[in-house]
Amino acid sequence: MEKPIYTTKVKIGKEERGAVEKVFDSGMIAQGKITEEFEKEFAQFCGTKYAVAVSSGTAALNCACFAAGVSSGDEVITTPFTFIATANAPLLCGAKTVFADIKEDTFNIDPEKIKEKITKKTKAIIVVDLFGQIADFQLLRKIAREHNLILIEDAAQAHGAKSNGRMAGSLGDLGCFSFYATKNMTTGEGGMVVTNSKEHARRARLFRQHGDAKRKKYDYVSLGFNYCTTDIASSIGRAQLKKLSDLNRKRIKNAQFYYQNLRGIRGITLPVVKDGIKHVFHQFTIRITPEFKLNRNQFDEYLRKRNIFCGIYYPQPLHLSLYFKKLGYKRGDFPVAEKLAKEVISLPVHPYLTKSEKERIIKTIKSI
Ligand SMILES: *Cc1c(COP(=O)(O)O)cnc(C)c1O
Repeated sequence: MEKPIYTTKVKIGKEERGAVEKVFDSGMIAQGKITEEFEKEFAQFCGTKYAVAVSSGTAALNCACFAAGVSSGDEVITTPFTFIATANAPLLCGAKTVFADIKEDTFNIDPEKIKEKITKKTKAIIVVDLFGQIADFQLLRKIAREHNLILIEDAAQAHGAKSNGRMAGSLGDLGCFSFYATKNMTTGEGGMVVTNSKEHARRARLFRQHGDAKRKKYDYVSLGFNYCTTDIASSIGRAQLKKLSDLNRKRIKNAQFYYQNLRGIRGITLPVVKDGIKHVFHQFTIRITPEFKLNRNQFDEYLRKRNIFCGIYYPQPLHLSLYFKKLGYKRGDFPVAEKLAKEVISLPVHPYLTKSEKERIIKTIKSI
């Protein structure tokens, strides 16, 4: 049997190791000066005025919702085709999560479907740049402006992606990132909120640390959590940020190889990249449609048996998970998301994939 090829591979180099060593030597390992430097560099990278480093992407989304003023009685619209953290963020602020269906070509939320879900209670929209492709923010910003809604961008899969020259994270009022191990850049666990609003940044900072405005010791001005990161993580983040464009370039190159070699196969739909978008291929997600010889699960199993491990993001839209079903959602509510959940499969596209591994993946698919 040939060697396994996995969906993801994580590599930490000497730059990260050296940076962590320095933090250890300094004796200050919790959140401090290095985190402040990381925030400055990340804000500059995104083209935003402010960045607030936190302990995870989940924490970033929670802080962003709090900063946006989301609270009980409010509704927040988002996609059912995402990681659970996106949909939980409004619930953690006491609000209701309202789903809107997605577009079949980009897997991203359908702005027209958002319009149908807006009520007097709607406070914000959380838009996900799924798989590394920025959503249709031109239209989304127009809708948000017309209805006075706050636009939160979940860019946890889109570090360094662009839309008409604008960086992921900077397209709405607040942007959220994750630095989980398998994301386009990592700090192990970690996250960031970016924004141009001084007030939103202030509130995100408050929520990060127990509502402590640093006015007086042990005096608090709002509700908060402990979502602080560490200088250990931030030192890794600073080294990773320097490597991000090279890592993304390799992902894009791998994607191009797939486009060249998988074009024109009946029953395989390749990812659509919209005009003006720089897609950073957190995932290379294809669709196995009914014209193909195998269904998606059989396709996955065929590759798995030959030691090629793909990812399925996501096998079930969130409204069909037990938890959201309890909130009143049912099968048939979001037909596009439900259909795509049965068809999607993500081929390995990580930066460390070798030429011979890519060739083996193509050969194996063609052998079906
Ligand atoms: C990874 C991810 C998150 C959550 O980030 P964590 O750092 O794992 O908490 C949120 N949204 C999306 C779209 C993600 O891919």
